[in-house]
Amino acid sequence: MSKEVRVRFAPSPTGYLHVGGARTMLFNWLYARKTGGKLVLRIEDTDRNRNTDEALRAVLDGLRWLGLHWDEGPEVGGDRGPYFQSQRNDIYKKYLNKLEKAGRIYEDDRSLRFKTTRSIVQVEDLICGRIAFDMSNPATHPDITIRRPDGGWIFHFVNVVDDIEMGITHVIRGEDHLSNTPKHVDLYHALGVEPPKFAHIPLILNEDGSKMSKRDKGAAVSWYQAQGYVPEAVVNYLCLLGWSPKDNREILPIEEVIALFDLDKINRRSARFDLDKCFWINGQYIAQMTPERFSELAIPFLRKAGIDAEDSPYLRGVLAIVKEKIKLLSDIPSWASYFFTDSPEFDPEAVAKSLQTVGAGARLERLEASLKNLSNWTAESIEAALKTLAAEYAEKPALYVHPARVAVSGRAVGPSLYHMLEVMGRERVLQRLASARIDFCTT
Ligand code: GLU
Repeated sequence: MSKEVRVRFAPSPTGYLHVGGARTMLFNWLYARKTGGKLVLRIEDTDRNRNTDEALRAVLDGLRWLGLHWDEGPEVGGDRGPYFQSQRNDIYKKYLNKLEKAGRIYEDDRSLRFKTTRSIVQVEDLICGRIAFDMSNPATHPDITIRRPDGGWIFHFVNVVDDIEMGITHVIRGEDHLSNTPKHVDLYHALGVEPPKFAHIPLILNEDGSKMSKRDKGAAVSWYQAQGYVPEAVVNYLCLLGWSPKDNREILPIEEVIALFDLDKINRRSARFDLDKCFWINGQYIAQMTPERFSELAIPFLRKAGIDAEDSPYLRGVLAIVKEKIKLLSDIPSWASYFFTDSPEFDPEAVAKSLQTVGAGARLERLEASLKNLSNWTAESIEAALKTLAAEYAEKPALYVHPARVAVSGRAVGPSLYHMLEVMGRERVLQRLASARIDFCTT
């Protein structure tokens, strides 16, 4: 039987979760789910200056928001911890000792350095293929530092030690680490351990081909959350940055991605970042979303806008009819607010145009009377009643539709009037029609 797959995501707590990091986590997560393996989250916090709680929070919150859970690591535990490099000093000392015994360590200017094997190192990468690195020239490939004079550990060494100690079978990480890999392989050999399999994921570039920086729009996962993106849509988008189902589909449920995903299907060419595509995917997810999920995602945005919303048939009804207008979750409050207040804000222009016009008051009054006696409160029968009424007076239905819309919502645009009235309910509608008529209409 083959060994259980163990992969890891090893971020440094930089204060935000970069989309590149999120995608690395995602590909590790997909591979673990695909193979029934385990995903370890390890915090590479050897840089004490950046090592703050908030910096860690940003990473963990970003991963949780995306729904990418880890099997071992911070807040989850596991039997190969601690999962913070800052707490693994004794382990590193033990491994340093092994290298010292093997005669591979020397002191240089109070730092400890590792003697590189001067040879050609072959790296067999599951994505990039076989690559030979010529390590023979110390001028281009100097011996790496392992420990600083202040006792701090250097990335390459602790990264390898932890991958050994945590039983990592596949190192899936960004291509920016490919050039480090021969050094890592050398360390494995010096420690007498078979290296794991490597899979280096191509970089994500901006549309103009430049490297993404922290300041680029959409570089931080928290940006998507704040903008009102749907996490599963962002995950779908990230899947397509370097991987594809090879049939041009762009909307893929995660279960299907897991089924189709494999490391050798990751593209070798760098991925192009495309926020427009992400925005489009997001709209598709909203359009297809179940009422439960839409309600769950909408509530925090409504609350942030001061609307005391909770999951209810009324909320779900409102969301169902505004859905087609929503591209980002942050659009919801402006489309839905007037459903939740008895004194909606009235747009003066809409009021002047539709309510303060000759005959509007009389028409609203007739509409109220007709709706009051409607036997069936559905969009269809509301529509039929309004049209019958208009026909009776030989008027266009629009002469009723516009004032009614402004009277119940305060504005000139919104979802289909008949559905809006159905969702608002008869009592609320009659009360709003009457009070707008009394407040604004003169005739
Ligand atoms: N802490 C490293 C980084 O954030 C991890 C590299 C690796 O995955 O091996 O780039």
